[in-house]
Amino acid sequence: MSGKRLIYFDNAATTRVSGEVMEEMLPYLSSVYCNPSAVYSFASGGRAAVDNARKDTADLIGAKQSEIYFTSGGTESNNWALKAAAESFEEKGKHIITTGTEHHSVLNTCGYLESRGFSVTYLEVEEDGKVSLEKLQNAIRKDTILISVMAANNEIGTVEPVAQIGKIARENNILFHTDAVQAYGHIPLNVNEMNIDMLSASAHKINGPKGAGILYIRSGLRLRSFMHGGLQERGRRAGTLNVPGIAGMGKAARLAAENMIARSRKEMQLRDYFIGRVLDEIPCTALNGHRTDRLPNNANISFGFTEGETVLILLDQAGICASAGSACASGAVEVSHVLTAIGLSRETARSSLRFTFSYENTTEEIDFAVSELKRIVAKLRENSAEYRRFAGN
Ligand SMILES: *Cc1c(COP(=O)(O)O)cnc(C)c1O
Repeated sequence: MSGKRLIYFDNAATTRVSGEVMEEMLPYLSSVYCNPSAVYSFASGGRAAVDNARKDTADLIGAKQSEIYFTSGGTESNNWALKAAAESFEEKGKHIITTGTEHHSVLNTCGYLESRGFSVTYLEVEEDGKVSLEKLQNAIRKDTILISVMAANNEIGTVEPVAQIGKIARENNILFHTDAVQAYGHIPLNVNEMNIDMLSASAHKINGPKGAGILYIRSGLRLRSFMHGGLQERGRRAGTLNVPGIAGMGKAARLAAENMIARSRKEMQLRDYFIGRVLDEIPCTALNGHRTDRLPNNANISFGFTEGETVLILLDQAGICASAGSACASGAVEVSHVLTAIGLSRETARSSLRFTFSYENTTEEIDFAVSELKRIVAKLRENSAEYRRFAGN
């Protein structure tokens, strides 16, 4: 982006590594290159970094350090949680409950498990993206071994009733896993108060590095190893530890904990200002997802009589990064499974864009984006016969 300014509103896809996080990581990419598993004293620097990160990532969710396992990110953590829970408890039953609006790393893992003889119920969500507790109750069977529901949705930002789901799971003696990649560090979570048995999180969604994450596994839960090899991570996740990534994730988690209130207040202010202006000033627009129970930084909006992908390209020409559907689905012509699951028509889903803000964004950036959106949407509608028919001219 030579010279041109970049306005980054795609923080659900990934975030910028903060300067403090990068500083924290640098020694482990240079002088402190030791393998933390080694016996000589040089290794203690790497070990200390990993220990600190284990404490900081655990504290953020009220977990014990011994319950944190470092992984390569959210995708691996979700794969581990689901596959290992299924295999470890198949004697008890082969039924899993999840939702139709999960991230693909959960949905496609469930698909794999179905091919291995497990049966999966995909709960339908309400129009605001919320799981119905009644439907969840009704889906529980004698052979249900696992409930996996995300803490917050990556596309529409809806925050799920995690504590109530955890309570239902516990009452029925069923394991509860939550994909908290979008929620971790952004909204308060407590694995004990919420009866969470397994939780996935990722560093790069909280201003940490890509390729680092955690799986929290409640102590006492006998879950099989994911990676087989050496004795790292108490024999459950083998492989030389990614010390720079882990140190970065720890720092990112600590900063998220210290600044959660201030960051989310700022993000909500930007989000609500953006949503307010777009809905007021651009006709035929609608907010997707829950109005209030949504991530502080998420705005997902349908722009009637436009194609999201086209708006996205024109926004890009103005230096603005946003997303049509989820990042993983963009590029493919496929309509977002989340937007169709909340009842949007294919057409409305295709007209929807996601803007996810950061505490580093400014009101000026929002003002510029809104004026560009007004211009772009008006221009596209001028060329839409359907819109002209609708508008009566
Ligand atoms: C980003 C994301 C993931 C995947 O995490 P990675 O660390 O990129 O593998 C999983 N679930 C949700 C909800 C996400 O937003």
